[in-house]
Amino acid sequence: MRVTTVFKRLLRLNDVNVTEVLFGLNVIIVSVVLVRRRLWCPHCGFKTSARYDTRTFPSRWRHLDMGTWQIEIRCSLRRLRCPEHGVVVEAVPFARPGAHLTRDLDDLLAWLATRMDKTSIARLCRVSWRTVGRACARVVAAELDPNRLDGLFRIGVDEISWRKQHKYLTLVVDHDRARVVWGAEGKDAGTLDKFFVELGTERAGRIEAVSMDLGPAFLKSVRKEGHAPQAIVCADVFHLVKLVGEALDVVRRDLWQQLRQLPDPKWARDFKGARWALLKNPQDLNSKQAAQLNALKRSRGGIWRAYEMKEQFRAIFDGDLDPADAILALDAWTARASRSRLAPFVKAARTMRDRRGLIINALEHRISNGRVEGLNNKVRLIIRRGYGFHSATAALALVMLACGPITLTLPHQRHTTQAAA
Ligand SMILES: [Zn+2]
Repeated sequence: MRVTTVFKRLLRLNDVNVTEVLFGLNVIIVSVVLVRRRLWCPHCGFKTSARYDTRTFPSRWRHLDMGTWQIEIRCSLRRLRCPEHGVVVEAVPFARPGAHLTRDLDDLLAWLATRMDKTSIARLCRVSWRTVGRACARVVAAELDPNRLDGLFRIGVDEISWRKQHKYLTLVVDHDRARVVWGAEGKDAGTLDKFFVELGTERAGRIEAVSMDLGPAFLKSVRKEGHAPQAIVCADVFHLVKLVGEALDVVRRDLWQQLRQLPDPKWARDFKGARWALLKNPQDLNSKQAAQLNALKRSRGGIWRAYEMKEQFRAIFDGDLDPADAILALDAWTARASRSRLAPFVKAARTMRDRRGLIINALEHRISNGRVEGLNNKVRLIIRRGYGFHSATAALALVMLACGPITLTLPHQRHTTQAAA
C-alpha cells in the first residue's frame, strides 16, 4: 500500500485525497486535496462550481496526534462568491470555519475541558489554554441544541464572575431540566433583555416562575411588558444561604481580631482554622473540626449564636418543612437575627424583611432543590477552571459544554457511527 493511501485510511478525513506525506522533526505534514469539485461557503453552505479567481490560499490545520507525532494537514483552498457573504475562502469538510484545528481535535479538546484541569490538557495535547477556549466556543456554536429555549416554565437567572476585576456573565437556568440554557456577558437589566428578545414574547408568556438574587437589575427586566411580567419571582435560595454564611464569616473575623489582641496566644491558636468548622455542613466535619465546634458551643459566645442562626436558616430551605411552617420559621429567624446584637445578622435580617415576599414565593414554589444547587456548584467549579480564559465567550462556552444541552461526541464515536451507516 502506498504511504498516501495508508494516511488517507489512518486520518479518516472526509472527502479528501492525500497527495504527499512528509516527516519533520516532531510533526508529520500531510498534504491533501478536496475530492469534491464544488466550492462551499463556510458560513451558510451555499455551493457553486464557479471559482471567484485563480488564486489559492495555502491553509493548515492541526489534527489528532499519532503516537508521539503531531499531525499537520495542509491544503490549498479556492475562493468563491457567496450571494450572502461575498467573496470567501471555501469551507473544508474536516474543520469548522476559521479553525486551525480539525473538527476531531476541536471535539477532543472540548470534551477534555469539561473533565480535566487546564494544565493537564495543555500538557497532554500540546496546545495553549486559549486554543482550548477557542475550540470550546466553536463546538458550542455548532452543537448546542437549537431548541433549548422551548418549554421553559421555571427558570433561574444568575450572575457569575468569570474573571477578577468584575467581569460577569449572566446565565439562565432551566430549573426543571437542571441545565444552563442561555448566557451572555454582563449582569445588568440590558443583558437579561437580550435573553427575552431571543426567547420571543410567545415563549416568554409561558414562563411561570423566575428565581434570582436580591438585586434589582434582573427584576426590572423580567417585569417589562413582552418579557415575563406574569411570572412569580422567587428569591434564589443559593444566594440567601450564601448571604447568611457571609454574615457568620464577618462575626468570625471580628472574634479572631479580638483574640489576637489577648496576651495569651493560646486563644487565637485554638480558634485558628475554625472557619471551616463553622461554614461546612455539620455532617461534613472531620473529627478535629467537630471538636473545635464543640469548644465554640461550650463558650456560648456570639460566635455560637451566629453559627446556630446559620444552621437554622439553612434548615428552613432543606425541604423538610411544608411551606406554611417554613414561613413561620423564616419570620422567627428574622426576629431572632434582628435582636441578636450581631451587626452582620441584624443587617441580614433587614434584607430578609425587605425581600420577604420573594423568599415566601421561593418557599411556596419549591424552585430551589438539591439538583439546582448541584448545578450552581458545578457552574462555579467550571468557571474557576475557566479563569485563565481571555474572553467571556470562551468562559461561557465552557459553562455550556459542561452544564448545557449539548451532546459531545468524541472522534472515535463519530467515525464508528459513520462506518456503520
Ligand atoms: Zn454564505
